[in-house]
Amino acid sequence: MSAVPLRNSKAAAADVRTVTVLGATGSIGDSTMDLLRGARDRYRVEALTANSNAQGLAKLAKEFGARFAAVADPARLSELKDALAGARIECGAGESAIIEAAARPAEWVMAAVSGAAGLKPALAAVDRGASVALANKECLVCAGDFFMQRASQAGACILPADSEHNALFQALGCGNREELVRVIITASGGPFRTWAAADIEQATLEQALKHPNWSMGQKITIDSASMMNKGLEVIEASYLFALTPDEIDVLVHPQSIIHGMVEFSDRSVMAQLGAPDMRIPIAHCLGWPDRIVGPSARLDLAKIGQLTFEAPDFERFPGLRLAYDALRTGQGATTVYNAANEVAVAAFIAGKIKFGAIARLVEATMNDWIRSGNLAPLGSADDAISVDHKARNTAAALLPQIALKAS
Ligand code: NAD
Ligand code: MG
Repeated sequence: MSAVPLRNSKAAAADVRTVTVLGATGSIGDSTMDLLRGARDRYRVEALTANSNAQGLAKLAKEFGARFAAVADPARLSELKDALAGARIECGAGESAIIEAAARPAEWVMAAVSGAAGLKPALAAVDRGASVALANKECLVCAGDFFMQRASQAGACILPADSEHNALFQALGCGNREELVRVIITASGGPFRTWAAADIEQATLEQALKHPNWSMGQKITIDSASMMNKGLEVIEASYLFALTPDEIDVLVHPQSIIHGMVEFSDRSVMAQLGAPDMRIPIAHCLGWPDRIVGPSARLDLAKIGQLTFEAPDFERFPGLRLAYDALRTGQGATTVYNAANEVAVAAFIAGKIKFGAIARLVEATMNDWIRSGNLAPLGSADDAISVDHKARNTAAALLPQIALKAS
């Protein structure tokens, strides 16, 4: 059985659903809490988590009457306890508390931690067979085969929350696997879509953080500017829907209205459209198998006027090419791709490398890993985390020479 539910597999939804939000204080967390706020009678909050924002977490936990609140940074526990004083909400700190939050009995879990740090908590929800709305794409890029196998074994239902994958999830229901020819995920092209390679090389943090359409967390906004985000999404689509790299195309679509399309054997192409507002795919996951009333603006195509498309440029955006290379190399290589990118983005934010060096560091780390001959499949979360850690160390070791090298 596939962990991503197929069409016609609707089950009756319970009247009041218990939900947990991992990464409740982030951008996806904020959109999710906004949807929950609009349907208080349908959802009861079991647990909420954050990295270090104890005040923001406590405020949400009190507003929603959560049973448990967990902060990843152990140094923030006393602050969280003080902020929750008198509220009769259990709390905890550290990675184990985040995992405990995911393991508590909520029917629906939003996995919206940023980065590979979200893998173990997401697996804790998967292992008890929950419905897991997956925004945290790094879980799949880091340990995709293994993650989907575990979901299948546990009978967990993975609901794709990333807008492109949610679009594919909706469009895939229009045919079966044998009829599918390819999927197309769209990309806005980011702030540097029309820039020359030499200018992209020198782009500043401020310029990279100016996304034309979407308002998102810092890491994913930088990934969008480098198109590493689209690379991560190609890998995410491959693991989520069991697709080969040749079955996944990327199409630049600057208006971000069509999020994903599926081409079937009769040459019908089914697309999902919507305003660039993450509350739309999250609402689909939250309502599934039904649909809820969403607060987002209705789509006014007459006002938008034009939808345009371009082929992606693999030369100016090498991060996208590297994602296909990693997928063709196999599991392990995608873990390295993600880990090296996380190190590179952190180094760019810290002013240690130029924007153009992000992809060079990822490529150098992948090459080093391939040369080491470590191509075995990942059999466990610990395998994935071990490859992730080694790749981070390699990327950190390669960083000084990449920083010095001119493009
Ligand atoms: P964000 O940085 O705004 O929020 C991340 C959340 O995770 C915060 O609540 C933070 O406190 C928590 N967190 C961070 N590090 C943690 C750690 N080590 N342990 C525990 N908690 C930690 O990020 P975001 O933009 O909301 O993105 C979250 C995930 O969703 C990412 O994987 C991203 O790629 C994906 N995503 C985001 C968007 C978007 O529009 N923002 C769209 C699609 C997919
Ligand atoms: Mg996306």
